[in-house]
Amino acid sequence: SKARENQIKKTKTVCIYCGVGCSFEVWTKGRKILKVEPKPESPANGILTCVKGKFGWDFVNSPDRLTKPLIREGDKFREASWEEAISYIAKRLREIKEKYGPDSIGFIASDKMSNEEAYLLQKLARAVIGTNNIDNSARYCQAPATVGLWRTVGIGADSGSIKDIEEAELIIIIGHNTTESHPVIGSKIKRAQKVRGAKIVVMDVRKHEIAEKADLFIRPKPGTDAAVLAAVANYLINEGWIDKEFIEKRVKGFEEFKDYVKQFTLDYVESISGVPKDQIVRLAEVIHKAKSVVVLWGMGVTQHLGGADTSTIISDLLLITGNYGKPGTGAYPMRGHNNVQGVSDFGCLPNYLPGYQRLDDENAVRKFEDSWNAKLSTKAGLQIPQMIEGVLEGKVHALYIVGEDTVMVDCGTPLTRQALEKVDFLVVQDMFMTETAKLADVILPASASLEKEGTFVNTERRIQRFYKAIEPLGESKPDWEIIQMIAKALGADWDYKHPSEVMDEIARLCPIFAGVNYSRLEGFKSLLWPVNDYGSDTPLLYVNSFATGDGKAVLHKLSWAPPDLKDEVHRVIVNTGRVLEHFHVGNMTRRVEGLRRKVPETFVEISKELASKYSISTGDTVLIKSRFGGEIRARAVVSDRVQGDEIFIPIFASDPSKGVNNLTGLEVDRASGTPGYKDTPVVIEKVEGG
Ligand code: SF4
Repeated sequence: SKARENQIKKTKTVCIYCGVGCSFEVWTKGRKILKVEPKPESPANGILTCVKGKFGWDFVNSPDRLTKPLIREGDKFREASWEEAISYIAKRLREIKEKYGPDSIGFIASDKMSNEEAYLLQKLARAVIGTNNIDNSARYCQAPATVGLWRTVGIGADSGSIKDIEEAELIIIIGHNTTESHPVIGSKIKRAQKVRGAKIVVMDVRKHEIAEKADLFIRPKPGTDAAVLAAVANYLINEGWIDKEFIEKRVKGFEEFKDYVKQFTLDYVESISGVPKDQIVRLAEVIHKAKSVVVLWGMGVTQHLGGADTSTIISDLLLITGNYGKPGTGAYPMRGHNNVQGVSDFGCLPNYLPGYQRLDDENAVRKFEDSWNAKLSTKAGLQIPQMIEGVLEGKVHALYIVGEDTVMVDCGTPLTRQALEKVDFLVVQDMFMTETAKLADVILPASASLEKEGTFVNTERRIQRFYKAIEPLGESKPDWEIIQMIAKALGADWDYKHPSEVMDEIARLCPIFAGVNYSRLEGFKSLLWPVNDYGSDTPLLYVNSFATGDGKAVLHKLSWAPPDLKDEVHRVIVNTGRVLEHFHVGNMTRRVEGLRRKVPETFVEISKELASKYSISTGDTVLIKSRFGGEIRARAVVSDRVQGDEIFIPIFASDPSKGVNNLTGLEVDRASGTPGYKDTPVVIEKVEGG
């Protein structure tokens, strides 16, 4: 009614940008978003917020939103009814499954889906189609961190909460631009330094804002951070600055580890990393002096071909110094997307069932088979880069992509585009006509988070509810409803009336979510998993034992070798990352005018050395050509944030031709399957008259 449209409605919601998981009350009038108000009871952020969470919501009412299902006809799309679109998808998927088998179909989940939606997508893949080919974009970012933590302590997630980061005496930040990627945590860290005198160490190839504030800034050559950390471990062991009691009681493999790190002498590591010996010693000293140490890391660690190894040595360092299981300690891989943690936790991984239950655990598999009334495959599925390769090799014939702009975010844009053009059948479920959607056979219009209910998990394993503030735009539908329609059209007997029923099923099947339900998450209430039957949660992991078979952590050796990136021609290395104003490639923030005005265009940061070598000044257009084939043009910003033979290009792409993944190659980290985004050698030249 008119009267209701004029009323202001306040709804609790959770930010859909980064992994801090800020929660707010959003004020709406009709469809209009009036303001976003953080509340003191917001568990992750209190009254803090950043520019994206506060002002980044207008995309919800963007005229670019998709509002009707679309079916391809030749080079164009035509509007279709939901019935027609769904039955067409079901028919094609059934045909492809019959002809080529269930493993010829792959599913890619968005890290912005709710937990319930992620669970249903993997259930569609596993129980209805019969394949484990389900993955999510954690593959592009933090999968190496997960591997490093699985190897050593057992759980691929932050070992404590944001509170522990705030309480630590020493905060080490490696390959992570905290201020721009996780702004609220960045503010909390700076406050800890100012108010409590916490020490900050930053190790990064780029001198970003938090690096300027650091008590110690270490700038290794790209790909050598693992060696620097191994040298620190070696030094700590030699000086006897380790926690012997902790190691004896709780850690295995110390003697082998000690022998392994011996090769990382100060002289050797200085020569390969460019980090002066005295800085390595200083880092060892501050670790030794601090009563509690946390390490935060991001894509600067994980988007390298040795990302899993660097993540492993971080965890090793924490173990030998006893920095796990106590307040103010632990390992914190910073989750990028708001729900990248949850989408993995709730089962969109090719090698794990929901709640990290293993495919080779017969009891777990039987439990899911009984509940889902289906026979499950126990063969691990394909990771995203393998699905793309599978298409090019003629093994994968259909892809179902939810809310992911695969063309732009996957490495090697030209080849990814080729694969998505080639695949027999492509379904894309999204809010916008992305570069990926443009290649689809069917596009299904999805609703925004403000238009539905569900839960997200932030970087600290905190599960939070978000509520519906406005109705779905046009004929768009929440992802969980769309997935259920597809499952039903394929013969499944699903009948979920509300996401809370999905969560109840998850709680019955997954021990780590045993006590999770919607009433325990009412309003601003939240739970950090694991949550036991009685609803008590776990802010701090590993207090008494590690999540390994016998409860002991394992020191893990590396398979590290010095990086070999450049060739004779391609002497410059591209680094990539976020900018504060835009999220990721910018599919949402580009549609928020205020944010677009602040950073309208993709740029390239160039070191002073390179600028003078190539006579480039700020504002010049630069042509960047990759060793892997692609090229892009962008405006130069000469800056001492980068040094030596390095340039920085944000992942924010103001148009598709400026996407940094036009440059990246297809090589992946062997242990985790994550592409080496930041291992891209290029040549640069100034474009005359540009
Ligand atoms: Fe909070 Fe991150 Fe959202 Fe900013 S983008 S408001 S820091 S959750």
